[in-house]
Amino acid sequence: MIDPPQNIRALSDQKILELVWSPEKTDRLPFRVVREYCPCATCIDEITGKRILDVSRIPDDIHPKSMNFVGNYAVKIVWSDNHSTGLYTWDHLSQLGEAYAGQ
Ligand SMILES: [Zn+2]
Repeated sequence: MIDPPQNIRALSDQKILELVWSPEKTDRLPFRVVREYCPCATCIDEITGKRILDVSRIPDDIHPKSMNFVGNYAVKIVWSDNHSTGLYTWDHLSQLGEAYAGQ
């Protein structure tokens, strides 16, 4: 388990979710990427780990409507397409940040 981010912000004008992990490390993830990698059971098959979500149906203007911390291990995001079952753990977001870095 990694430590919670020091700050998490939805930058609507840039369509970026900014996660400040430490003074040296910040991840900037496009809203669309975060939505595509929603880890919930209606987006990912829990048994096979395969994505069920049809990413082509995600609106271009997808953005978080609200974000709520869950304990100190995750954030729950309510998306503008009314999808709200995704619990994004810090581990998951950090892995997304690493996968997305440099693209
Ligand atoms: Zn989901």
